[in-house]
Amino acid sequence: MAKEMYDVAVVGSGIGGLSTAARLAHSGYKVLLTERFRLLGGRCSTINLNGYLISTGAIGIEKSGPLEQVFTDVGADFPVKRPEPQLGYFVDGKLYQMPPKGGLRWLLHHVARDERDAERVMNAMKRAMTWEEPSMSISCKEWLSQFTQDPNIHGAMQGLIAAVLVINSYEVPAGAFIKFLKTGGYRDFGICSGGNINMIENLANVVRKNGGTVMNNATVKRIKVDNYAANGLVIDRPDGQIEVGAKAVVSNAGPRKTIELVGREHFEKGYLADVDMKIRPGPVVGMFIASDRPLIEHPGAFIPVNTRRICLMFQTTLTCPELAPQGMHYLESFGAFSDSLGPIDLKKEIEMNIQDLRDIIGEKFDKHGKILAAECFHGDWPAFHTWPGYDVTQKTPIENLYNVGDGVKLPGWYSGTPAAAATSAPVVEDIKARHKPGAG
Ligand SMILES: Cc1cc2nc3c(=O)[nH]c(=O)nc-3n(C[C@H](O)[C@H](O)[C@H](O)COP(=O)(O)OP(=O)(O)OC[C@H]3O[C@@H](n4cnc5c(N)ncnc54)[C@H](O)[C@@H]3O)c2cc1C
Repeated sequence: MAKEMYDVAVVGSGIGGLSTAARLAHSGYKVLLTERFRLLGGRCSTINLNGYLISTGAIGIEKSGPLEQVFTDVGADFPVKRPEPQLGYFVDGKLYQMPPKGGLRWLLHHVARDERDAERVMNAMKRAMTWEEPSMSISCKEWLSQFTQDPNIHGAMQGLIAAVLVINSYEVPAGAFIKFLKTGGYRDFGICSGGNINMIENLANVVRKNGGTVMNNATVKRIKVDNYAANGLVIDRPDGQIEVGAKAVVSNAGPRKTIELVGREHFEKGYLADVDMKIRPGPVVGMFIASDRPLIEHPGAFIPVNTRRICLMFQTTLTCPELAPQGMHYLESFGAFSDSLGPIDLKKEIEMNIQDLRDIIGEKFDKHGKILAAECFHGDWPAFHTWPGYDVTQKTPIENLYNVGDGVKLPGWYSGTPAAAATSAPVVEDIKARHKPGAG
């Protein structure tokens, strides 16, 4: 039997894979999107846990950025609801709502022991944003330490950095943090109504409606390469193995996995060395706490300062009550690891997160809260496939083989789903420049 031919075959239905597939299908390309699991969406999807619709990863979804742009480009609904107010900080046992503008200045002045230190840091950041970016060779903490030793300012910056970039201020390159600030990322965000799966299905439907195929329970076993060019996939399905042909292959499986799927022997040594040296997954602990009332009275993102581990919390159900059974709520918290490169003591990390929750929420935590799930996201299901500033390029040395997703982020677009979505734009442009639609 002749094997099916596609213009483009996409491995994985995460945000990067779906954004690429939807954009190409909308432009007339015959697209195959494969996903190894039954559920589409990767680390931006929804599972039902005892009636609570919880995320497989992302919660805060950026509005007005590269992700929303994908939906606009392909004419799909972007069902993301903005919480009001959006951002709060928890400092010294008190919750402060952030003004939409000037929040960082307010925060640093509020926590600083000496206001002159806060001003020195603000001036350094302004210089870095408008003149010369700091080096990628020192950490953000080292860079800030040139302007202040105040532990409260360092604590506030650690909270903010870990909340948006997952790793700690002593790990993230100073230049990467400033590049991220320059993109204006995450100034506006919300929570997906009914769960992330609604966003995901809207993009999958664009592929289906434009003649593409969305195949779940379809594990790609091999990316086929001939004469240094990709030309198809070998896929395991519940009813047997199939082979498909494609003019281009886009992998959303992460750069390391892409190499495995092709075979190391097909790659140039320099590329293998780059991937081996650079790619370092960013782990995170996620806690899901059910309750019969809100545990914190703030609907948006909530950044606690000077904690052991927790850097970000969402009382999700204040914005989207449909995510919990009627009359119930859930809160989700994230904690950075003390050492993102490991080794990882999962039990200890979770214990630290629980202690933080007790401190932040107070007696309501034990009285009204119930831990629904406590998970460590690491290995091949991390928060980000690689740390900000440690990405490799979307194009691989194999012709017609691209990577998308949060292992190949664009400079500055370093945080989560918008970063993964942004990687689809250069890949789609390159495919359009090289191949006309019309598989056969
Ligand atoms: C706990 C946690 C909290 C987070 N919070 C946020 C947040 O609040 N906001 C935010 O924007 N981001 C957040 N992120 C990050 C965000 O979820 C990710 O950056 C983004 O979803 C990654 O998308 P991706 O394109 O890299 O694809 P992925 O989500 O990695 O999807 C890749 C897909 O490929 C599939 N696949 C892999 N191998 C194969 C194969 N061989 N065959 C077929 N399919 C395959 C996988 O099953 C998966 O579905 C969070 C992540 C985690 C884990």
